[in-house]
Amino acid sequence: MSSPISKSAIDELHTLIPDLKIITPDSPEYEANIDRWFFLSIKRAGAVVFPTSVADTSSILRFTQKHSIPIAAKGGGHGLRGESSTEEGNKIIARGGALWSEVYAEAEKFDLAPVGGICPDVGVGGFVLHGGYGFLSSAHGLGVDNMLEVEVVLADGSVVCASDSENQDLFWAMKGAGGCFGIVTEFVLKGHEQKNEVWTGKMIFPKTTLKVVVEMGNRILERENKGNAVMGHFWGYSTESEEVMLAIIPFYNGPQNEAEEFFAPLLELNPIVNKAKMVPFSQSGDSATVAGKWRKLSVARSMITPMNADFLEERLNEFEEFLQKVPDAREQSIVGFEIMGTRALTSVKQNETAFADRGNHTTVRIIPIYLNEDNYEVCKKWCFEMERKFQMEFEQRQKDPLLDETTRSSTGVYLNYDGFGLSAKTIFGVNYERLVELKKKYDPQNVFKNCVDLL
Ligand SMILES: Cc1cc2nc3c(=O)[nH]c(=O)nc-3n(C[C@H](O)[C@H](O)[C@H](O)COP(=O)(O)OP(=O)(O)OC[C@H]3O[C@@H](n4cnc5c(N)ncnc54)[C@H](O)[C@@H]3O)c2cc1C
Repeated sequence: MSSPISKSAIDELHTLIPDLKIITPDSPEYEANIDRWFFLSIKRAGAVVFPTSVADTSSILRFTQKHSIPIAAKGGGHGLRGESSTEEGNKIIARGGALWSEVYAEAEKFDLAPVGGICPDVGVGGFVLHGGYGFLSSAHGLGVDNMLEVEVVLADGSVVCASDSENQDLFWAMKGAGGCFGIVTEFVLKGHEQKNEVWTGKMIFPKTTLKVVVEMGNRILERENKGNAVMGHFWGYSTESEEVMLAIIPFYNGPQNEAEEFFAPLLELNPIVNKAKMVPFSQSGDSATVAGKWRKLSVARSMITPMNADFLEERLNEFEEFLQKVPDAREQSIVGFEIMGTRALTSVKQNETAFADRGNHTTVRIIPIYLNEDNYEVCKKWCFEMERKFQMEFEQRQKDPLLDETTRSSTGVYLNYDGFGLSAKTIFGVNYERLVELKKKYDPQNVFKNCVDLL
C-alpha cells in the first residue's frame, strides 16, 4: 500500500508532463508540503504537484477529472477553512500479490480498513476479483463492490486500467470474474474509516443451543443489523466430549456495551468458552491454518434467509453421524456459515457486476478434513451429499413467489468456495453470456482458463 492515488495514475501523470515535480506520501518532502498555517487546514493529499505553465495546469486539471481525483490550489497556505488542501484518504492501493494481513496493518496506520478477508492469510487478488465476504460486508457489501480501479496485464501483454470511467466493460467483468481476464498488478480499493476497535473472539456452545444460534444468525441477516454485526457459525467435533459443538465468531464494529447488547441472546447461553473482547480491526480475523499434512476438501452453497433451524438440525446430526463413521475426519472437519447483513450487497443489481450470487442468503461451507488418503472417496461422497441437500433447499425456496428479484436470480454458488470446478454457466448465471462475449474481446485465445473456463 502507498499513496492513495494509484501508482499507475502517478506514472501516467509523469508521462503526460515529464518535468512536473510530483510529491507523494512516501516522499521525504511530503509533510512539509501539506503543512498549512492553520493546523486544522492540514489534509493528507494523495499528491502535491507544482505546475510551471498554464498548459501544465490545464493538463493536470484534465487528468484529475479523468481519474475523479479532488483538487485544491494553494498559494501561501494561510486559508483558515482548509480551502487550499485536499484529501484522497479513502483509497487503499494494494499490489497484485498482497495479502489482507499486510493491507490491514498498513491501512490501520491511516485509521482505515478495506472490505477484506476474514482470514488474513487470504490474498487480495482472488478475494476481491471473485466476490469477497468480509467482516465489513454487512456495512459495505462485497469486495468487488469496493474495488475502484485495477491495473491489469491482459493476455496480449498490454497494460490497461479499468474503472467506472475507463474500459468499463472490462471493469464490469473484473468484478466477479477477474481471474479469467488478466493479471492485476494494482488494486485501488475503498478505504473505510476505522478508528475504533472491534468486538470479536471465539465462543463455544453445546449443539443443543443450535436453535438460539440460528435465530441470532437470522437477526444478523435481517434488518435489525445496521451494518455493524457479522457472525461466523461453525460445527466441529470435540474429541473431549465426543460430540459436535458449535463454534461462534461474533463480530461487532462498535463499543463493547453495544456489542454485548446485540449478542445478548448468545451471551445468555453461558458459552463454554468465551474469548470475545475488543481488538484492533487488523487483529479481528483468524488465519484458519491447519497444518499441511491434513487433506482438505471444500464445497459450498448459499442458504436463503431466514435459515430454517429444523433443516439445519437434521444436517448437524448427519455431520455427527459422518464423523462417527470416519474417525480420521473428526479432529478438523467443519461445516461453517458466514452470516452477514445483506442490505449493502443486495443494493447492487445481479447484472451490475459479473458476480452473480447476490441475495438475501448466507453461505454454507462443507469442509471435510482428514489424514488418510484412503478416506478421499468417503469424504467426497459425504460432502457432495450434504451439498446436494443445501442445493435442493435453496432451489425449493427460490420458487417462493414472494422472494425478491435479486435472490431469485442468484446462482446459489460462490466461485471462491467451489472446490470441484463447477461450470462457468453455473457460477456466473445471469451474467454468463455477457462474460463469454467479453472474454472473446479481451482473451480470445483463452489464456486465462485456469480460474474458470469461459470459452
Ligand atoms: C482458510 C480460508 C479462508 C477464507 N476466507 C474467506 C473469507 O473470509 N471471505 C471470502 O470471500 N473468501 C474467503 N476464502 C476464499 C478466498 O477468497 C478464495 O480462496 C480466494 O480465491 C483466495 O485468493 P488468493 O489470492 O489467496 O488465492 P490464489 O489461489 O492465489 O488465487 C485464486 C484465484 O485468483 C486469481 N488471482 C489471484 N491474484 C490475482 C491477481 N492479482 N490478478 C489476477 N488473478 C488473480 C488466481 O489466478 C486464481 O484463479 C477463504 C479461503 C480459505 C482457504
